[in-house]
Amino acid sequence: MPQNNSIDNLFSLRTNGNALIIAGPCSAETEQQVLSTAHEIAKCEKVKLFRAGIWKPRTAPGNFEGIGKKGLEWLKKVKEQTSLYTTTEVATPEHVEYCLKNEGSVDVLWIGARTTANPFSVQALADVLKGVDIPVMIKNPLNPDIKLWAGAIERLKKAGIKNIAAIHRGFSPFENTSLRNIPKWELAIEIKSIFPEMLVINDPSHISGKREYIFEISQKALDLNLDGLMIETHINPNKALSDAKQQLTPKELLEILQNLKFRKSSLNNSEFINKLDQYRDQIDSIDYQMLELLSKRMNIVKEIGNYKINNNVTIFQLKRWLDITKTRKEFGNTIGLDEQFIKKMLQLVHRESIRQQTEIANKE
Ligand code: PEP
Ligand code: MN
Repeated sequence: MPQNNSIDNLFSLRTNGNALIIAGPCSAETEQQVLSTAHEIAKCEKVKLFRAGIWKPRTAPGNFEGIGKKGLEWLKKVKEQTSLYTTTEVATPEHVEYCLKNEGSVDVLWIGARTTANPFSVQALADVLKGVDIPVMIKNPLNPDIKLWAGAIERLKKAGIKNIAAIHRGFSPFENTSLRNIPKWELAIEIKSIFPEMLVINDPSHISGKREYIFEISQKALDLNLDGLMIETHINPNKALSDAKQQLTPKELLEILQNLKFRKSSLNNSEFINKLDQYRDQIDSIDYQMLELLSKRMNIVKEIGNYKINNNVTIFQLKRWLDITKTRKEFGNTIGLDEQFIKKMLQLVHRESIRQQTEIANKE
């Protein structure tokens, strides 16, 4: 069934569990590869949007840099021959113009991680998109800079793009890690809290770098209530011209989509809501008690600060700090708290204590 419609709202493409599922090859390589992948993917009704990069931002020169505008004709055929909508990456105003000129080939544009990192490039894209009604998805920049990501989204909003989604694809690590990009899930949650009305889609493929991890990362994204997944899928992944290790076959994709748990973000059932409210009341009460205790602790810290300064003693006392971490960790263990968690929490509290005491010392 051909896909003749255009998308007026990305939200309407969400299927079960309110997730928007995007799949397709990292790169469009040949017409046959694009079409056979699309036909296989379209067998799964959860997938609504077909991705394929036709201009590829490669880290080093000399690699496959994409098929270029010829790929637009193949995407048009995907739309003519399947029920899928299509999306491709744009990095320059020229790319955008090609997509807009070739009507019926691309429904949604996406901005890649390397482009989001450069405000000049994002602004140039925003300028050429002014007054154009097309959905745009914006990947996080390579570096974990939430303001840079939010800034790119703002630039497109200001250009009048109404239909914007963010794609969380992880952040470049400095060292070799088992994952290709560090997820830093808290940033995906933060971008959602800055733009609560916007879909935030996870890209497990670029986070994983290896197909073995795709399921786990996807499930984590769904459990965190992210709004969808973009999963690289290729008819013959091992022969792919880019990102071979992380691409799935369409069969593997379907299997993963079948096994993932799409949980509901809330239930409209009054029994469920009452019980949830009770739990939340308890958490609220404990949070306030924790804050009051912290405030009491800080007041004592200030008194000790004054006492130390008056007696000409240094603020930081290594022995005391080592003793605090050791005894608290031991106690925490007996009541089921994670050691790393206790350590991080104590460090935070200790840092604030030192800051408070340093302020007292500086006043002297
Ligand atoms: C891609 O989606 O193939 C891609 C190049 O991704 P990113 O911009 O996240 O590196
Ligand atoms: Mn890729």
